[in-house]
Amino acid sequence: MRDFSKDHRWLSLNTATVRHQGDLVAIVDACARAGIRAIDPWRDQVAAIGLDRAVRLVRDAGLDLSGYCRGGMFPADPGLRAVVRDDNRRAVDEAKALNAPCLVLVVGGLPQYSRPGSVPSKDIARARAQAEEGIAELLEYAAGVGMRLSIEPLHPAYAADRACVSTMCQALDICDRLDPEKSGRLGVAIDVYHVWWDPDLIAQIRRAGKNRIHAFHVCDWLVPTRDLLNDRGMMGDGIIDIPSIRAVVEAEGFDGYSEIEIFSNDWWTKPMGDVIATCIARHRGSV
Ligand code: ZN
Repeated sequence: MRDFSKDHRWLSLNTATVRHQGDLVAIVDACARAGIRAIDPWRDQVAAIGLDRAVRLVRDAGLDLSGYCRGGMFPADPGLRAVVRDDNRRAVDEAKALNAPCLVLVVGGLPQYSRPGSVPSKDIARARAQAEEGIAELLEYAAGVGMRLSIEPLHPAYAADRACVSTMCQALDICDRLDPEKSGRLGVAIDVYHVWWDPDLIAQIRRAGKNRIHAFHVCDWLVPTRDLLNDRGMMGDGIIDIPSIRAVVEAEGFDGYSEIEIFSNDWWTKPMGDVIATCIARHRGSV
């Protein structure tokens, strides 16, 4: 396992972590000044300054991307399927333009939340089937462009509105069905916040192997959690044994960035420089 205690060369900042403190221009500037080598930007942040400008910004700063957030939200009414398909293809194209190594997929939940305007449904099995159909269709397009797709299983509390794929096992079952030759075109983004509780986690990380581990996201689980979406903790402030999980991920050969992704009503109120300085310190000591 790599030693993170001496420097932060393997730290990537998911730009949602400081999304309320500045736009992508300000975030890239702050990362460059802090010696951060990689980011994972969100589509809305890229759209806010324009794709071409974002491409130049990242390139001129010499930044790597550890991923691009995000595609997905596949379950939808038949009338919206073309919208979903085109939206996801654009996400692939943007990821390619930005030179991202993969497009992170949050697959969506029930259709009325995944794509508002869809007829309300309680059929989560159908939603899962639609998610898989959507991934299968996008995989063909992404392969043509040369972009990897990374399914991010989300904590089951988000099954209705964000991701009906809740476990590594589910995500890897989809990978097995859609990419049985394990080409690496389809894999997983492992976010400790979403999967730390899973009794099968270690076995599933080993099952994924290097080819299918595309990304590793870190933050912490606070007890109590006060907000289902926006109360993620800074690494070291909660109960996730992050180094133990990272050890298993790296034992499989993963040698990419450790991406810090914190949605927090608390951290969003602090100055960007303070948040980044804390991220660097905790990356060294608690990841
Ligand atoms: Zn994540």
